[in-house]
Amino acid sequence: MKQFIYADNAATTKLNKAAFEAMIPWLLDEYGNASQPYAFARKPKKALSEAREIIAECIKALPEEIYFTSGGTESDNWAIKGSALADPDKRVTITSAFEHHALLHSCEAIERLGYPVAYLMPTADGIITVEALGDIISDTTYLVSVMYANNEIGTIQPIKELCEITHSHGALFHTDAVQAIGHVEIDVQKLGVDMLSASAHKFNGPKGIGFLYIRNGTKILPYADGGAQESKHRAGTENIASIVGMASALKENCDKLESNMAYIKSLECNLLEGLRQSQIPFVRNGGANTLPGLLSLSFNGADGEAILHRMDLMSISISTGSACDSLNTEVSHALKAIKLDESLAKGTIRISLGKNNTEEDVHAIVNALEKILVLLNP
Ligand code: PLP
Repeated sequence: MKQFIYADNAATTKLNKAAFEAMIPWLLDEYGNASQPYAFARKPKKALSEAREIIAECIKALPEEIYFTSGGTESDNWAIKGSALADPDKRVTITSAFEHHALLHSCEAIERLGYPVAYLMPTADGIITVEALGDIISDTTYLVSVMYANNEIGTIQPIKELCEITHSHGALFHTDAVQAIGHVEIDVQKLGVDMLSASAHKFNGPKGIGFLYIRNGTKILPYADGGAQESKHRAGTENIASIVGMASALKENCDKLESNMAYIKSLECNLLEGLRQSQIPFVRNGGANTLPGLLSLSFNGADGEAILHRMDLMSISISTGSACDSLNTEVSHALKAIKLDESLAKGTIRISLGKNNTEEDVHAIVNALEKILVLLNP
């Protein structure tokens, strides 16, 4: 048996070996600044534009529509604040009540500046419906931002349909696809989105790097003023090694998307079947359409925190919700938004399986849960 089982892939993922190897030259030998005019800067400049092309191809965007950032948090901050501040009429931003805090706190920041924000509630199954958006969208809406897939319960949102109704009211559409990209197909043309946030460490790339897709012609203010990097929209010397690593990881995951999805889905099915056979009563949150491997499981009357710590003592890493909330023992805002009964919400854990997990891991997780929930609590 493995000494350690990592089942918190929604918090972060293991770096792909090829991505790590692709990064090395840019850290050691080819350390030139891509903005300089001499020969030593030519290779990093070329690497930068090749990475941009690779990433654009993966999501069916144009290379000049990819803006490198430090990750999902920065991309979300930029999309919300950069859009609002570009609108002199201070029209309404609409988002959902169960977005990641990177998005929600950015919305609170623009509210403090006098920009109105409206919050959509998900259904009990964790879906933001077109009807819910239809009820509040109007011609005074400037931006709608709804995440592609929820990071706590994994539910995939009807982005194409939400985007269509948004555009019919002349507003812009942003999606936080941090949990989804590299794990399910993302095609910005098919979806029709104007902006999309991504973070490399969620798709087996390095930490501290991501990008914001901004469709050509979208009105948005620059994120950082300074040098001319990122078409004068996000100043600062580029992190070439991480950008190259991100492109390599995204390409590898997108090339193997179908087989990874099928493999992770089979692990997920076996975990659920194992739990059913062990006769542990549980509720799986979210409907049928969830990210492969992301399971939000509630055990009535149990304590999610205690389960997490007991699993940890058995060298198994899982989570109770979003990574950013791990120090906060209150019921998460996402579980509150789907109006999960409090005794179920308190007994909720998140298991997120990835391509590096095995059947052996799944058995060990089920056995550990059985021990904790049945044998230790008869
Ligand atoms: N958005 C979502 C949906 C996330 O799950 C996360 C991270 O957990 C973020 C944004 C923040 O991304 P990053 O860690 O790259 O700042």
